[in-house]
Amino acid sequence: MTEGSAPENTITFLGTGGARFMIISQELASGGLWFNLGGTEFIIDPGPGSIVRVTNLKLNPERLSAIIVSHRHLDHAADVNIMAEAMTRGGFRRTGTLFAPRDAIETEPVILDYLKKRLERIEILEAGKSYTLGTVTITTPVRHIHGVENYGLVFKTDKITIAYITDTRYFDDLPKCYGGDLLLMNVVFLEPKTTAQSVDSNMPIDHLSVPDAERLIKEIKPKIAILTHFGVGMWRANPSIIATRLTEKTGVRVIAAQDGMVFQLSELHQA
Ligand SMILES: [Zn+2]
Repeated sequence: MTEGSAPENTITFLGTGGARFMIISQELASGGLWFNLGGTEFIIDPGPGSIVRVTNLKLNPERLSAIIVSHRHLDHAADVNIMAEAMTRGGFRRTGTLFAPRDAIETEPVILDYLKKRLERIEILEAGKSYTLGTVTITTPVRHIHGVENYGLVFKTDKITIAYITDTRYFDDLPKCYGGDLLLMNVVFLEPKTTAQSVDSNMPIDHLSVPDAERLIKEIKPKIAILTHFGVGMWRANPSIIATRLTEKTGVRVIAAQDGMVFQLSELHQA
């Protein structure tokens, strides 16, 4: 293992908290996911505290080939700038790619102009497209229902397919868009919610709940499913107990992610 790299073929959960109240309190950390797929390393959704989590775990952002932002909400994008600064060693090397939806680059940029110039390239995420990053093919099958422009991601190597369903309201096309050996899901809610009490009526409540997760696992039938991005209610209900229940109901091994958890992709071969 190269110094500052995550072990090869792992996913590190920098944080497993999701949505406003978890992020404000940091009861669970935020910061996104760090992938190492066959030596290609990238970070997804660097929310608040990402740089702190990364450095505490002795990961070196200079190892990153890319920063991927699924959508421009704070819990997914707050640390994009500092991660870009760190990936480019404070601008001393022009390197790395930022993947983000158009509205996160143009309408309400998640990245400052001077940092943008330090990146090697910016790729605009769009529905139904494929992108190449080292030995990994990334596809964005469909736009999610989540207020702002938002895409889930499918990562494919010659050995493995990993589907990551980021924030979204459940919709009928979801299962057929996200087939794979491993299914990662942002499950914010315990129960489906339809109304939000908020001063900002645009505040999205379009999130997956536990019954949605059950339906997705049953239809997609991955080898393993991992739940993350927990809201307060979900956290209080104990995600590991929920994961065990889902395993019993679906026949698929379901894991509740924990802050700092390093998932070995080799576990998929034993599943
Ligand atoms: Zn969101």
